[in-house]
Amino acid sequence: MPMPAYEMDRQQASPLISPLIDPFGRKITYLRVSVTDRCDLRCVYCMSEDMRFLPKRDVLTLEELDRLISAFVNRGVRKLRITGGEPLVRRDIMDLFSSLSRHLARGLLDELTLTTNGTRLARFASGLADCGVRRVNVSLDSLDPERFRRITRRGDLTGVLAGIDAAQRAGLGVKINTVALKGVNEDEIENMLVWAHQRGMDLTLIEVMPMGEIEPARIDQFLPLSALRRRLSERFTLDEISYRTGGPARYVGVRETGGKLGFITPMTHNFCESCNRVRLTCTGTLYMCLGQEDAADLRGPLRTGGDLALDEAIAAAIRHKPKGHDFVIARRAPPAIGRHMSVTGG
Ligand code: SAM
Repeated sequence: MPMPAYEMDRQQASPLISPLIDPFGRKITYLRVSVTDRCDLRCVYCMSEDMRFLPKRDVLTLEELDRLISAFVNRGVRKLRITGGEPLVRRDIMDLFSSLSRHLARGLLDELTLTTNGTRLARFASGLADCGVRRVNVSLDSLDPERFRRITRRGDLTGVLAGIDAAQRAGLGVKINTVALKGVNEDEIENMLVWAHQRGMDLTLIEVMPMGEIEPARIDQFLPLSALRRRLSERFTLDEISYRTGGPARYVGVRETGGKLGFITPMTHNFCESCNRVRLTCTGTLYMCLGQEDAADLRGPLRTGGDLALDEAIAAAIRHKPKGHDFVIARRAPPAIGRHMSVTGG
């Protein structure tokens, strides 16, 4: 996507205005952007079987997304994660990566990365590397083809594994993200850990969060990572380490494999005090917290105001970032958050 000349001038000329700091003194340096709500999989904990997707007219164009993201970069966002839905199903998505890579080249961004289910990674891995992407998170909940198909309601494991191969061949660091699901993949976690570490990939385990209506009962899926960690420590030596990637995971080193194991525990231990993130949807809605409904519309100012109006709308939204989230999973409780994870991405 070619960048208009005036945009280039603006980018180069404008000094960094003041950084975004929320009412609790947390500096916002990390933006996650869901570029589409669509996905080629229907993971049982993420989406319902018959998801209704947004009409295309509500979705920002890639040019609009670029302008919006760049407004955040001008305000001190240093890390950008493209997510979804499945980001690699969005048509011409590589144009967005290519255009955003200018912020890396100019030293305004430290990292441009993505979270993907890996189904299209074989096709896009080398292009991503060319755009300055250095690592990707691949979501993968099972190494058993049948089980993988059941969890994703349709996925083909072979394609995902080919995507991981391609990413590594292209020189991308790969981290595997696995949602721990009670009675579904809990017996596989040890194998996945060994498999990932043998391939030089870190593994992060995620607790299932009560987001969006889905068919299975959340409480039946929920597996506290504290229990899983105890189980893993019977077989592996888990050493506390200070390693961080800028996200919510806390890591341990696994002595036997030499790899790192991360835990994302929004349910059993929230990590809000160090939250540096906000999330933008493909309709231009900014969610200041994954686990709260507080949101600000940026599509309006983007489309009808100038750069200043957009900047002010962003600053005003950050002034409303809540202190934290408080998820509860209970037998008859409605989802804590009405929207599915595919709206704001992981
Ligand atoms: N399609 C991409 C992928 O699969 O990585 C990006 C979007 S997906 C919504 C991002 C991450 O959120 C995935 O790792 C997925 O497993 C996780 N996820 C989805 N719903 C979740 C939930 N209710 N609780 C915890 N993690 C969830």
